[in-house]
Amino acid sequence: MTATMTPETLFDTLKDVRLGGTTCLYPIDKCAELTPLINDINRLKKEKNAVILVHSYVSPEIVYGVADFVGDSYGLAKDAMSTDADVIVFVAVKFMGETAKILNPDKEVLIPSELNGCTLADSLSGDDVRRLREEHPNHTFVCYINTTADVKAECDVCVTSSNVNDIIQKIPNDKIYFLPDKLMGRNLIEEMKRRGVDKEIKLWHGTCYVHEEYDPDTVQYLRDAHPGLQVLSHPECSPGVLHLSDYVGSTSQLLNYMQENAPETVLMLTECGITSRLQVEMPHIKFVGSCSMCRYMKSNTLEDIRRVLDAPREQDTIRIDEETRRRALTCIEAMFEYVEGR
Ligand code: SF4
Repeated sequence: MTATMTPETLFDTLKDVRLGGTTCLYPIDKCAELTPLINDINRLKKEKNAVILVHSYVSPEIVYGVADFVGDSYGLAKDAMSTDADVIVFVAVKFMGETAKILNPDKEVLIPSELNGCTLADSLSGDDVRRLREEHPNHTFVCYINTTADVKAECDVCVTSSNVNDIIQKIPNDKIYFLPDKLMGRNLIEEMKRRGVDKEIKLWHGTCYVHEEYDPDTVQYLRDAHPGLQVLSHPECSPGVLHLSDYVGSTSQLLNYMQENAPETVLMLTECGITSRLQVEMPHIKFVGSCSMCRYMKSNTLEDIRRVLDAPREQDTIRIDEETRRRALTCIEAMFEYVEGR
């Protein structure tokens, strides 16, 4: 977005963002505070030949104020490859910035948030994978994209929530070590059984603390209380939650499902960013229950984006040694080959 933003245009875009409550989270006075920052960032972006990639879980004023691309980790990784900008500002969490750097070694990749964690990515290290590989030399090591560059460098193929089942099914080895998400792993094991695919799948013990919170009893209670409710969930939720869901998909798949099916009343079991995007883009939908926020994604602010564009510090810049980057790239390219036959 490059046109000058006014408080009125921002308010008009965000006026339906309420998340679990009834009050608009972006009244006109808040929009008036945000617009100078948004306009500063959009000016700096042009001056520096930068592109801003934003995950859907990040706050709406960033998604609708300064983003050039908005999406999930896989989509943003592809967008990162398509840009001819000199600088990529990756507004998400650190492992996603690393993925952009792995794919774009000649570009400067900047990450605005100082709270750059992720409970999944932080649950294991490259050393952990090296040890596991020694213990399980006959297994194919498959990592979810929510992992650090060090972990990807030690694995055979990377997957996302939208392609995990199809890629695991296609891998010729029947011994798989899937990491780090144990809940996605349990869902994967169930799906392989459902497809009649016989594989021994070992799991690491990581979880996403946002998706782990949802429990089947609450889902059933809301289903009973709201006849006709559509329950949509992400595969990082537990198998019990997925059993009660009408549709399961990655962030992008959930958004596509909503656009294609336009259900009236929805329980959205993923990070709040998806609900806020839908409140902007499909304001007639009624959301029940509450959503959960990721403290890491929500720690990104407009102030930090302006700071990294204006005067980036060493800790804002993604650096990966070339050997690790090259090996992690092989792991990501293996995913592209499975998905696209490249
Ligand atoms: S939502 Fe979960 S998986 Fe995504 S960044 Fe936050 S902690 Fe990590």
